[in-house]
Amino acid sequence: MSRNNIHKVTLIPGDGIGPEVTDAARKIIESTGVEIEWEVVTAGYQALKKHKTVLPDIVFDSIRRNKFALKGPVGTPVGEGFRSVSVTIRKTLDLYANLRPVKSFPGVKSRYEGIDIVVIRENTEDLYSGLEHEVAPGVVETLKVITERASLRIANFAFRFAKRRGRKKVTAIHKANIMKLSDGLFLDCVRRVSRGYKEIEYEEMIVDNTCMQLVLNPNRFDVLLTENLYGDIVSEICAGLVGGLGFAPGANIGDNYAVFEAAHGSAPDIAGKNLANPIAITLSGALLLKHIGENKEAKIIEQAISKVLARGEVLTKDMGGSANTTDLRDAIIAEIKAKNH
Ligand code: NAD
Repeated sequence: MSRNNIHKVTLIPGDGIGPEVTDAARKIIESTGVEIEWEVVTAGYQALKKHKTVLPDIVFDSIRRNKFALKGPVGTPVGEGFRSVSVTIRKTLDLYANLRPVKSFPGVKSRYEGIDIVVIRENTEDLYSGLEHEVAPGVVETLKVITERASLRIANFAFRFAKRRGRKKVTAIHKANIMKLSDGLFLDCVRRVSRGYKEIEYEEMIVDNTCMQLVLNPNRFDVLLTENLYGDIVSEICAGLVGGLGFAPGANIGDNYAVFEAAHGSAPDIAGKNLANPIAITLSGALLLKHIGENKEAKIIEQAISKVLARGEVLTKDMGGSANTTDLRDAIIAEIKAKNH
């Protein structure tokens, strides 16, 4: 298939299972016919060996040049003075919106059906600002920073996203009953933005109640809009609703760049054994395709994954099957090819 539009995308294979799952994702994406020129750069332990740093400049140069990246999980050496690679990428490129969609797949073990929730989490501030100090021996403080600028920015992102994707409702999550100033400012900003989107229902919910409602009746939710810490926790609950981290794709999006990655880590316990489930990173690749306007190809990938899972014949160990990474990759590619012909 010949197309005019060749996209250049940075590919960071990552550590542990990263190279295995990103390779599977890349081959699945390419099987749709979408033309992508991948620029492969290393980060994490892979880069440490070659460049003496977990995050060499070539990674930023490449993402700045190409604007988009598909990133495998990266390990950060603990206690050796290295900052988390993922957090540094998000902060340096100002990727302020963390997008974590979860969707039920037929055939995947879960107590719930028909889940279709998107968590949009502010990625740059809140209790993750890194501002901690010891006030006196035995007394420490971590500062929660909420700004009008970041709150308006994430609220605008969430409502724009909801409108573009035909979503019906945005729920802002907060604890403004206790943190009246910080969460109060966040809510005030979201309310102001919500007034510009009369077609989208807007509601607010206290974070503890949200967690309970997610377990009792998750289908009532559509788009969840949160600050950084609540988003971190709530998005993991959401992943659990649809079968776990193996099905949880993600994206970190800013005004100029976007990095797409699965929620799971480098799984050193199964690395190099061809056992990993490549679905989360492949779905992250589908998010990337949607972001660059290749909606049809993204849909084809999602439908192929859905069909393969529903048949239940080729499942990796984490799903209770005995297939390996390449078996699952090939089954998804075969489904895509069958659909395209
Ligand atoms: P993990 O997600 O790597 O593993 C947790 C458990 O889930 C393990 O039993 C693992 O085998 C399993 N698992 C994870 N992904 C899987 C997949 N695709 N298929 C099948 N099973 C899978 O979490 P962890 O053990 O806490 O972290 C390991 C390393 O990953 C650490 O160095 C951590 O810093 C790093 N990490 C990186 C990222 C990232 O780059 N975005 C995110 C989380 C953790």
